[in-house]
Amino acid sequence: MLNVKENKVASDTVSVIARMLAYNHEQVLFCNDKDTGLKAIIAIHNTILGPALGGTRMWNYATEEEALNDVLRLSRGMTYKAAAAGLNLGGGKAVIIGDPAKIKNEALLRRFGKFVNSLGGKYITAEDVAMNSKDMEYIHMETKYVTGIPELLGGSGDPSPVTAYGVYLSMKAAAKEQWGSDSLKGKKIAVQGVGHVGENLIKHLIQEGARIWITDINKERMKAVAKEFGTEVVDGEKLVDLDIDIYAPCALGATINDDSLARLKCLIICGAANNQLADEKIHGEVVMKKGILYTPDFVVNAGGLINVYNELQGYNRERAMKQAEGIYDTVAKIFQISKTENIPTYIAANRMAEQRIAALGKVKLSHC
Ligand code: NAD
Repeated sequence: MLNVKENKVASDTVSVIARMLAYNHEQVLFCNDKDTGLKAIIAIHNTILGPALGGTRMWNYATEEEALNDVLRLSRGMTYKAAAAGLNLGGGKAVIIGDPAKIKNEALLRRFGKFVNSLGGKYITAEDVAMNSKDMEYIHMETKYVTGIPELLGGSGDPSPVTAYGVYLSMKAAAKEQWGSDSLKGKKIAVQGVGHVGENLIKHLIQEGARIWITDINKERMKAVAKEFGTEVVDGEKLVDLDIDIYAPCALGATINDDSLARLKCLIICGAANNQLADEKIHGEVVMKKGILYTPDFVVNAGGLINVYNELQGYNRERAMKQAEGIYDTVAKIFQISKTENIPTYIAANRMAEQRIAALGKVKLSHC
């Protein structure tokens, strides 16, 4: 018979599996190493299309439950992103629990690399929040199943130019759908966040003759970008009040919400930020009813994933850019599904990803 302590462990185990069942995860690996202080969770959501690729996030989670929920949710998102991008990859993600400033060191990262290696290539890691290419280099010392290593070691380097190219092409596909031509010449575009992706996106837009308004909480950066490209600057919140054609959220998530939707006058929303719709169900419907064409974020910003995917075959930036061009057709297809089935674009994107997994699941691909 189980004692009280064992009983609690047993019921916790059931609840983990119940959570895996809810999203249909294949495998979750809990990692613990007393010597280095490593506590991590690796979640493999689905490997029908290929090995589960997704970044490792280091975060000082308040509870283990919070960490588990995050890794389950994020790994599932990766399955959809890879499937919609047409890649032969499944979805996975890892979280290392703890404050990066206090716990991150070579030994802990290499121990984590050994855990990744123990999965034999079923999970491939990459950079995410609080991780950099130096960290990936340490992980790489213990496993070959890692992307985002420094360029000198054959890595792909900064993914932002590829991501920005995908955002730019998505915008063109949306313009074609909304106005009959994919030219962005003369279009009035507001970009929120001019960091790595935002700045690269602006380069493409300026080249095509678009008119740009920008905002960023980093005033120095905002001024520097405005000076370089001759864009207008706007203070924070006021960006959504402008009389514009396209709104490009390239900073944080949840900027498409009740407040912004009451004020936005654009006809297209297309940007790099993850999780742009504050509430997918509510705001995905509202944009559709308002006649705004929303290009689903995880499809638009797949260039980053396409970039690291290319590392697996020996990195070549030109090939990665070429592959990112496919995003244009993917976005156009999503608009078609949305129109034909009269469903919001985010549902159309999910459906497209699910159909690809279901179809290829029947072929029973083997990959590792
Ligand atoms: P970044 O950190 O380089 O840039 C983000 C910029 O947004 C910064 O300049 C920051 O000051 C600004 N910002 C933050 N909060 C803001 C606010 N409330 N209002 C205005 N500006 C604000 O990040 P990035 O690499 O350019 O990525 C941008 C977004 O795209 C992120 O959401 C990221 O998760 C997503 N994304 C990036 C990539 C990539 O390849 N870098 C790939 C996929 C998705």
